[in-house]
Amino acid sequence: MYAILTDDSELARAEIGDRSYYFTEFVDGRRQEPLEGTVSSVACWGDTAAVRDEPERAAVDADGTRATPDAEGHHWGTVCPTDPDYREGLLERIGRLEGDVRLTTLGFPGAGFCRCERCNRRFEGSEHDERDAWRADVLTAFVAAVATRVDGELTATLYPDPYPGSLRERAGLEPAGLAAHVDGFLVPLCDPGYGTSYWVESLARGFARELEGLEVSLSIQLSGAEIDPERLAGVTRRVEPHADEIVYGTYPDDAETVREAIERLREEKAAPA
Ligand SMILES: [Zn+2]
Repeated sequence: MYAILTDDSELARAEIGDRSYYFTEFVDGRRQEPLEGTVSSVACWGDTAAVRDEPERAAVDADGTRATPDAEGHHWGTVCPTDPDYREGLLERIGRLEGDVRLTTLGFPGAGFCRCERCNRRFEGSEHDERDAWRADVLTAFVAAVATRVDGELTATLYPDPYPGSLRERAGLEPAGLAAHVDGFLVPLCDPGYGTSYWVESLARGFARELEGLEVSLSIQLSGAEIDPERLAGVTRRVEPHADEIVYGTYPDDAETVREAIERLREEKAAPA
């Protein structure tokens, strides 16, 4: 299956792939109205505007570094996942969406996060001895709460690191626990132009292995920017054996490239062997 991901409503309706993912909440804090018949892509704790307006809401590590766009290794602001008002607002907005939903920026923004007073207090009051186990519990409970509010398919985005234990250590995400509440996982493997692409195949294979035995689908997101259709089709051929769906991040300028790559791939499949 092929899909596109876009923030452009016209493109989302252009039927370039089998379905379209459409941004309704961005990591910079912008929101836009959902579009019927598309997968709503919702940034969870990535919200630069919220963190800029109220810096104390940002997730913080043991050294006091806040997860803001100017902190090293952070590209956007991240609200602490245990912020009760933010969590409630997020759940309420997700509950108003119709159809399929994809969650992005799901997780703590790094291995050392979050050490705010509330997180410290909650961890100490929890049944867990290990902070990573507590973090995984926080996130799995959130996704479980989302699942009860979504009437379509629910997809969770994973950080592209399939090494055993890495997702849990980095973000507090445990695919095996989350799998009970989601229909699929989506892994972005984006690079404009794909000057090299061996790593795309390696990571896709790693995730297919990590998710083996779980009742979930695997979508891989590729970038349709700065590339020609044949090369994009070539990168797709390398990851397709490991994925159920390929999602192309698409801007209006790349739409024809993506359309042509999908056409080539579909023709190959339709052709007799
Ligand atoms: Zn916190």
